[in-house]
Amino acid sequence: MERLQASWLDAAGLTVLVLRLDCIDPLVSGNKWYKLTPYLAEARETGAAGLLSVGGPHSNHLHALAAAGQRSGLATVGLLRGHPQETPTTVDLQRFGMRLHWLGYGAFRARYTSDFWVDWQARYPGFLTVPEGGGGLRGAMGCVPLVRQVQAALPALGCDDFDAWWLAAGTGSTLAGIVIGEQGRRTVYGALAGPLRHGVKEQVDELLEQAGASGARFQLVEAARGGFGRCDDELRAFIRNSEQESGMPLDPVYTGKALMALRDQARAGRLARGTRLVFVHTGGLQGRRAAGL
Ligand SMILES: *Cc1c(COP(=O)(O)O)cnc(C)c1O
Repeated sequence: MERLQASWLDAAGLTVLVLRLDCIDPLVSGNKWYKLTPYLAEARETGAAGLLSVGGPHSNHLHALAAAGQRSGLATVGLLRGHPQETPTTVDLQRFGMRLHWLGYGAFRARYTSDFWVDWQARYPGFLTVPEGGGGLRGAMGCVPLVRQVQAALPALGCDDFDAWWLAAGTGSTLAGIVIGEQGRRTVYGALAGPLRHGVKEQVDELLEQAGASGARFQLVEAARGGFGRCDDELRAFIRNSEQESGMPLDPVYTGKALMALRDQARAGRLARGTRLVFVHTGGLQGRRAAGL
């Protein structure tokens, strides 16, 4: 963990401590490491033949899954959105030994129907299916330990406590894990990487209910800037400036948008002076390559 340096934080009287999950592993980066841990354990315990999952051609999730699979000697199969294309991510996926199937767009949209997985499981018998983004209740539960890990890291920063969490939300499962670990104490802010209509609020509510988390406190903040994966000049400039001031790299899909949304809230005076936040750097830096950052 480290203290974030930024002029806009000083102006708003805020303290931000960053949990650098981008630094925990060179390949299995960020929150994906935490979300995948329970699935890898299950694959080991059940003697699964391999791991099967879905994602886009820049997916941080598939990237982490393929790397983790290679490391633990598990075969991996990735079902990809769209038509065959080469991205820095897909090159890595193949290097990690992941078998790729390009689904087009229609078949990819059908991933929420029950038949979808029945067919793929018949094709890859004995493979453990990992939900999109490594989410689901198991993925969320894998993030619960973050709460006590951050708590334990505070003294080294000369800090005895903090007020709230701020992190990017895609499926919302990382956020749900932290909310569960907090047991109603601190508020967890989720900066949405996609539009609200993608149902993140409903998904988080469902995960919290499944986990029996009562009194949970979380708040979703719009941060998508025109859509999931969209990157505009203002965002690029923010990421570059922020990097110069703090020395911390950001990705354009999640962490850059999340921190920019925090800056906007700070500038608008929506956070009381003196507020101490923990910003979770959820990783995703492999995705920068295609954005030319
Ligand atoms: C996948 C990802 C997220 C989103 O995590 P969810 O648990 O799906 O909300 C956030 N940040 C980065 C860098 C990611 O790769």
